[in-house]
Amino acid sequence: MVGTFLDLTFPALEAQLLAAGVRPAHARTLWRALYRGPANLTDDGFPPPLQRWLQALQREQPLVSRPEQLADIPSSDGLTRKFLLRLPDGQTIETVLMGYTGRHTVCLSTQAGCAMGCVFCATGQGGFARHLRPGEIVAQVLHAQRALKAAGGDRVRNLVLMGMGEPLHNYDAVMTALEIITDSRGLNIGASRISISTVGVVPGIRRLAAERRPYHLAVSLHGASEEERAALVPVSRRWPLAELIEACREYGAITGRRIFFEWTLVAGQNDSRDHAQRLALLLQGLDAHINLIPLNPTHGFAGTPTSDRAVDDFQAVLRAAGYPSTIRQRRGIDVAAGCGQLQRQSSRSVA
Ligand code: SAH
Ligand code: SF4
Repeated sequence: MVGTFLDLTFPALEAQLLAAGVRPAHARTLWRALYRGPANLTDDGFPPPLQRWLQALQREQPLVSRPEQLADIPSSDGLTRKFLLRLPDGQTIETVLMGYTGRHTVCLSTQAGCAMGCVFCATGQGGFARHLRPGEIVAQVLHAQRALKAAGGDRVRNLVLMGMGEPLHNYDAVMTALEIITDSRGLNIGASRISISTVGVVPGIRRLAAERRPYHLAVSLHGASEEERAALVPVSRRWPLAELIEACREYGAITGRRIFFEWTLVAGQNDSRDHAQRLALLLQGLDAHINLIPLNPTHGFAGTPTSDRAVDDFQAVLRAAGYPSTIRQRRGIDVAAGCGQLQRQSSRSVA
């Protein structure tokens, strides 16, 4: 598929202008228009050479391809909005805007579908369709930003790559998108306000560390033994737990950064005090924070959510072992809950 301007980092855009004989200095004007200006690129009072070049290009390909919004569903508390977006080839993805106490956070998708097959995850249950291009990841931020501004909000400050898809399975496109998103001349979202969540793609974790990528890392664990984890996360057979924890230790040593571990609590399966104890043992010596996520029930998985009491007990064990943890608020549970669920619902009703 043909790329668009949103696929390009600033240096790449500058190089294109240079190659086309347009002054590379105009790259800044164009970049500002893309990320800070109104939607229409050619009506912007650009310098004539830049405008001519854009008009000529536009005849051949779309310069900016914006996803079409199929749904914008607010949660009943009004704090979360979930967008269902349709890409030019008909694939649909979800983007979630969370507005907790003014610190607006957007949850991005990195793939249409997901190949990892975690049994409780709606996206995993639907299988893999394709990787998103950098511009399709960037466009989600622009979409949420515009929606936020239209509602009188400020700007998007935090990003989590926790929507549909496995970010480290689409490594290059995700890193390019993040370079674009963090560029101080444009969207200017701080790298320290961006978290990448991975199911545990070991080579990707190693690469993040080797390349000194400045983002936060969250690793989805869900089990503290090979067998228990593989029952929920099938790719644990490809990148075994021992190897994953080793990669996390290396990541921590190289970057000096705390790692966030995610643990989706499923009643009777991974939510006992004993599980919490084994988790604490597994993470021994790591600078770790644990995010506890009560299960959002999905159609393809028979498991049920843990009781509030069990969540509290689990957290108490972690606290006693010296690990900070947070219970993820299930905001937006009434707007089709976990990432991927809205998309699944709509494709089911279409089918
Ligand atoms: N692919 C990445 C990021 C997207 S999923 C990853 O797996 O980490 C983001 C988080 O939501 C993961 O921790 C995932 O395990 C969790 N999750 C997915 N479906 C869920 C569900 N139905 N209930 C609770 N947590 C879920
Ligand atoms: Fe993919 Fe993450 Fe869902 Fe697993 S939890 S299937 S890795 S999106």
